[in-house]
Amino acid sequence: MNEQLSILCELQETDTEIARHREALDTLDTGTQVEEEIGGVESELVELREKQAAIEHENLDRELELKTLQDKKERFHGQLYSGKVSNLGQLSDLHQEVEMLAREIRKIEDHVLDLMETLESQRAEIAARDTRLGELKGELESVRSRYEDRSARLRSELEELESQRGELASRVGTHLLKRYEQIRARMGNLGLVRVTGTTCLGCRIALPSETIKAMKAGRPGPTCDNCGRMLAWGGDGGEE
Ligand SMILES: [Zn+2]
Repeated sequence: MNEQLSILCELQETDTEIARHREALDTLDTGTQVEEEIGGVESELVELREKQAAIEHENLDRELELKTLQDKKERFHGQLYSGKVSNLGQLSDLHQEVEMLAREIRKIEDHVLDLMETLESQRAEIAARDTRLGELKGELESVRSRYEDRSARLRSELEELESQRGELASRVGTHLLKRYEQIRARMGNLGLVRVTGTTCLGCRIALPSETIKAMKAGRPGPTCDNCGRMLAWGGDGGEE
C-alpha cells in the first residue's frame, strides 16, 4: 500500500478511537440517577417528619384535655361521695355530670390510642427511609469514585490519541488530508473505509470492479460512488 494511504488508514483508526473515547466519556455515569433518588427520599422524609410533628402536637393537646377532664371528673366524683350534698336533684345532676365526663374521657383516650398507633407506623416509615438514604449515599459515593477513575483513564488515553493524531496528520500531504477531513466532517467521522470484500463498509453498497481494481492498486484515489468515502484495500490479495 502507498505510504500516504497507509498513514491515512492509521489516522482514520485513531480518529475512530478518539470518537469512541469521547462518547464513552459523555455516557459515563456521574451519579445523576442516584442523586435524583436521594432527593426524592429526602423530600419524603421532610414530609413525613412534618406529619409526625403535627401528630405529636395533637397528641399533646389531647393529653392536656384529658388531664383537665379527669381533674373535673375527680372533683365531681369527690363532691358526689363527700356527704356534703344531700339534695337528690343535685346528686342526680352530679351523677350525670360524672357519667358524661367518663364517656368524654373514653372517647379521647381512644383517639389518643389511634394517634399513638399512627406515630408508631410513621416512626417505622421514617426509619426505613433513613436506612434507604444511607444506602443511596454509599452508592453515590462509589458511583462517583468509579466515575473519577474511568474518566481520568479515558482522558489520559484521549490525550495520547490526540497527540498520535497530530503526529500522523503532519505526515499526510496537505491536499489528501484536506479531502479526508472534508469527507469525515460530512460522513460522521468516517472518511476512509478499509474494504475487505466487494462492498463499501461505510454504506454497505456493492463496489464496481474498476473501483476494486483501483483500490487493490494501493494508491490513494478511489472513492465510493455511493457515499463518497475514500477507499483502501484491507483484504487479502492487495499489494502491500
Ligand atoms: Zn460507500
